[in-house]
Amino acid sequence: MTVTKLNFLVAEDHNFQRRVLVRILKGIGAHAVHEAGDGMGALAILRDSTRPVDIVISDLDMPGMDGMAFVRNLGESGISVSIILASALDRKLLSSIQMMSEAYGINLLGVLEKPITPEKLLPLIARHKTLPNRQQHPPCPVFSLEEILAGLRNDEFEPFYQPKIEMATQKVAGAESLARWHHPQHGLVAPHAFIPTLEDKGMIDVLTDTMVRKTVAFRNTWHACGIGGTVSINLSVKSLADVQTADRLVGFLRVQQVQPRDIVMEVTESALTTDVGHTLENLARLRMKGFGLSIDDYGTGYSSMQQLIRIAFTELKIDQSFVANAARQESARVILEASLGMAKKLNINAVAEGVETQEDWNMLHQLDCHTVQGYLIARPMAAEDYLAWVKDWNLSH
Ligand code: C2E
Ligand code: CA
Ligand code: CA
Repeated sequence: MTVTKLNFLVAEDHNFQRRVLVRILKGIGAHAVHEAGDGMGALAILRDSTRPVDIVISDLDMPGMDGMAFVRNLGESGISVSIILASALDRKLLSSIQMMSEAYGINLLGVLEKPITPEKLLPLIARHKTLPNRQQHPPCPVFSLEEILAGLRNDEFEPFYQPKIEMATQKVAGAESLARWHHPQHGLVAPHAFIPTLEDKGMIDVLTDTMVRKTVAFRNTWHACGIGGTVSINLSVKSLADVQTADRLVGFLRVQQVQPRDIVMEVTESALTTDVGHTLENLARLRMKGFGLSIDDYGTGYSSMQQLIRIAFTELKIDQSFVANAARQESARVILEASLGMAKKLNINAVAEGVETQEDWNMLHQLDCHTVQGYLIARPMAAEDYLAWVKDWNLSH
């Protein structure tokens, strides 16, 4: 979208700086630029403007409602707008403000150090895409445990597959299996609508067993089509409290005559408060049987260095937040680089997930990341589409 077509709002208490910024915007082609002296004024314009504002450029340090309170209010209002924050503050603080904005669900295009110049502004404006109006999203349906279990009994759950690519060779390294619910009324339902309930009520194993059974059977189908690679399955840490879990999973593989080395179990480490012994026993047994073990969402919460040492992981899956932010946030890039370096030193495979842009891909390539996964390559897809997709990919690479 060109700058001429965008509707801007500048929120800045300092008159002179505000006028300079308005002039810069007009200089790069903007026609519509609103002005506000603080967050309150900016919110009022956003609510009342007949033509929706596309991009707000806000100072952080303003009297009355400052930039941070403005971002919070914006998040709560559900108004759909992109934002660029500007400040003379130090870079470390800017990166924590960036994380804060993301936590409030704000589409932050970037944080700029003052003074603002057209050269700094243009690449951030280029990131703006027309956003769906958040207020118009239907609320996600809440399903009861009984509804979810009925769906599982009716065989309405199915794994979708998202390919992973080995960077050096551009070959398909395999796929991650992700649960989807074909709901008779609501259509395709994503995991966040049923996994937390299943985990909280102690019923996640019902889903795990369905996913493992179907994924392992599909692994055989793709093998028969001459397609190689491993398949990764998500395993809730809640399932690891039961010492029988590893043996039960092995049983599913035996039925389909699939080798454990073709399967990677992805585990997100959460606090190992209870059943530490059972959890470690299960993971050690899975590894002993030959499964790959991946530490999912690495870098967040408890998925940390300590777990890497404690458990014989074979793969480190770097959380998508670091990948998404690395191009524009120094702290994310540092964590990404350090994680990749550590994986190399520990001689385990690093997978970066959430690769959405060519910029992400190039950066990971530069950092010598082993495997990548993300929307840039493909979204998760149904089994039959996956086979066709791999054939297409192999033909074009
Ligand atoms: P995860 O294991 O971290 O899986 C990656 C999630 O990121 C998937 O969301 C995937 O669709 C999404 N994703 C992939 N590439 C991109 C990208 O480029 N950009 C963005 N923004 N997102 C991307 P999904 O399928 O909604 O799954 C969400 C979570 O639900 C998974 O996160 C995993 O923790 C859990 N989950 C999914 N299937 C299962 C399952 O069978 N069992 C268990 N226990 N958990 C599962
Ligand atoms: Ca995963
Ligand atoms: Ca993840």
